[in-house]
Amino acid sequence: MGETQVKTAHPKGLWVLFGTEMWERFNFYGMRALLTLFLVNSLLMKEEEASLIYGGFLGLCYLTPMLGGFIADRFFGNRNCILLGGLMMAAGQLLLFTSGAIFEGNLSLATTIMYCGLGVIVFGNGFFKPNISSMVGSLYPKQEKTKLDTAFTIFYMGINLGAFLGQYICPMLGDVKDSGGIRDIHAFKWGFLAASIAMLLGTTLFYFLKNKYVVSPEGRPLGGLPSKNEAADFEEGEAQTANFSNTALTVAGLAFIVLGFIFHYGVGQNLIYTLIYSSGIALAGLIISDSSLTKIERDRIIVIYIVSFFIIFFWAAFEQAGSSLTFIADNQTDRNFFGFQMPASMVQIFNGLFVVALAVPFSVLWDTLRASGKEPISPVKLAFGLVVISISFFMIATQVSYIGTSGLLAIKWLILLYFLNTCAELCLSPIGLSLVGKLSPKRFASLLYGVFFLSNASGYALGGTLGSILPATGDKFVKAKELGIDLQAILDKTVTPTAEQLALLDKHQISATNHFFAGFEIHNLYEFFMVFVVLTGIAAIVLFILTPFLKKMMHGVR
Ligand code: GLN
Repeated sequence: MGETQVKTAHPKGLWVLFGTEMWERFNFYGMRALLTLFLVNSLLMKEEEASLIYGGFLGLCYLTPMLGGFIADRFFGNRNCILLGGLMMAAGQLLLFTSGAIFEGNLSLATTIMYCGLGVIVFGNGFFKPNISSMVGSLYPKQEKTKLDTAFTIFYMGINLGAFLGQYICPMLGDVKDSGGIRDIHAFKWGFLAASIAMLLGTTLFYFLKNKYVVSPEGRPLGGLPSKNEAADFEEGEAQTANFSNTALTVAGLAFIVLGFIFHYGVGQNLIYTLIYSSGIALAGLIISDSSLTKIERDRIIVIYIVSFFIIFFWAAFEQAGSSLTFIADNQTDRNFFGFQMPASMVQIFNGLFVVALAVPFSVLWDTLRASGKEPISPVKLAFGLVVISISFFMIATQVSYIGTSGLLAIKWLILLYFLNTCAELCLSPIGLSLVGKLSPKRFASLLYGVFFLSNASGYALGGTLGSILPATGDKFVKAKELGIDLQAILDKTVTPTAEQLALLDKHQISATNHFFAGFEIHNLYEFFMVFVVLTGIAAIVLFILTPFLKKMMHGVR
C-alpha cells in the first residue's frame, strides 16, 4: 500500500493516538533507561537489588492494565483514564526527579520517594496503556476491521519512535560522564524531568485533539463515560462482559491466596513477584472453568494459555535490556560508536530504532507469505521468535567469553543483539496480541488480554530474578584490586575473605559470592547468558513440537 493511500485510508484519530502514545512511551522508556543506573549510582543499591526492583516495576506495569481496563469499562471511560494515567505518570516522574535532587542530603527519604514515584507510574501506566490500545481498535467500524493489522503496525511504530526518542534524550541529559569516565550522579534527575515533560506534552495533545479527531466515522466522540452507553462504538472491546458466579469468584480468590503462599513461602518469591504470578494463574483458572464455554472456545483458550506460558521466557530474556545488559554496557563495553561515546543507558535505543525500520518490512513479509499460501501459523511465528532470541543470546555469550573479566565488549555485538532481539520481537509481540484477539470468545476478550499481559508481567518478573544473578563485571575486579582484594580468588573460594574485606566489598556494592540459578552456580558472564540460551531454546523446541496439536485446537484460526 502506498504512503498516501495509508494516510488517507486511516482516520485522523489514529495519528492523535500515535502522537499521544509516542510521548507516553518516550516518558516510560526514557526513564526506564536510567532507572537501574540511578538506583546503583545515586541510591547506592547493589546491581542485583536494582535488577529485582526493575523486574518488579515492569511486572507491575503489566499487572495494573487489568485494573485500568476494568475501571474504564465500568466507571470512567477510556478518555478519562488516558488523561488520568498520563497525569499520574508525569507526577511519578516528578517524584523520581525529586529523589534524584535530594539523595545526597537524605538517602533514605530519597529512596522512599523513588518507590512512591515508581508506584504512581505503575498505576498511571495501568490507566493509560490498555485504554489507548483499545481506542485504536474502536476507531474502526466493523466493515473496516481488515485495516486493523496495519493500524496496529503504525501504532507499534509510534510506540517505538517514542522509545527511541526517550532513550536518546533522557540518557543525554541524565547519564553523564566526564572525559575521565567519572559519572555525574546528580544528572539523572534531568532525565526524569524530561520524561515528565514528555508525558505532559502527550496528555495535553490528547486533551486538545480528542474531541475533534478521536471520533467515530459519523463524528461522535469515542471512549466517553460508559454510562452514556457507547457500546455501538466499541465493536472491538465490546460491552459483552463475562459474568462469573459468586462460587467461581470465591474459588478463584482462594486459589489466588493458596498460590500466593506457595510462591512466597514455597518458592521464595518476593511479594510483588508473588502477586504477579498468582493473579495470572488464578485469572486463567477462573476463565477456563466457566461453564458457558463450548468445547471449541475452551480449546482455543487453552492455546492462548500455552502460548502465554512460552512467551514468559521470551520477555525474561528480552527485558535484560534495562538491567544486566545496561550494566554490561556501563561496565565492560567499549561504547565508541563512530566517534560518539554512547552513554550506557542509550545502547538499548537500537531496539526502538530497529522496530521503526523493520515493522513494515515484517508485515509485508507476512502478507507476501500469506498471498503465496506459505504463511506459518501464529504459534510457529512465536516459536521462531524464541529461536531467534536464543541465537542472539548465544552470540553474546560467545562474545563475552572472549573478553574475560578485563577486556571490553565491542558495542557492535550489543547492536547485533538488539537487531536480533527486535526481529524476534516482531515475530512474537504483535503476532501474540492479534492471536489473542482472534482466539478469544468476545465476552472474555478483555480478560484474556489480561492473562496475556500477565504473562508479559511474569516474564518481566522472571527477567528481574534472572538479571539479579549477573556475575561481577570487570569494573568490580578493578575496584577490588584497588582495595587490595583478590575478588576472583574469593569468588572461587580459594581464599576466605576477612570480615573487614567483606565489609569493604559490601560498601562498594560488590558481592563476595557467585549467584545460583536452579542449583547451578553462575561463575562468569558466559554462563550467565547461557541460562537465557537454554531457557528460550527449550521453550522454542517444546513450542515447535506442540504446534500440530495447537493447530488442531485452534479450529481454523491461524
Ligand atoms: N514494546 C512494546 C510496548 O512498549 C511491547 C511491550 C510488551 O508487550 N511487553 O508497548
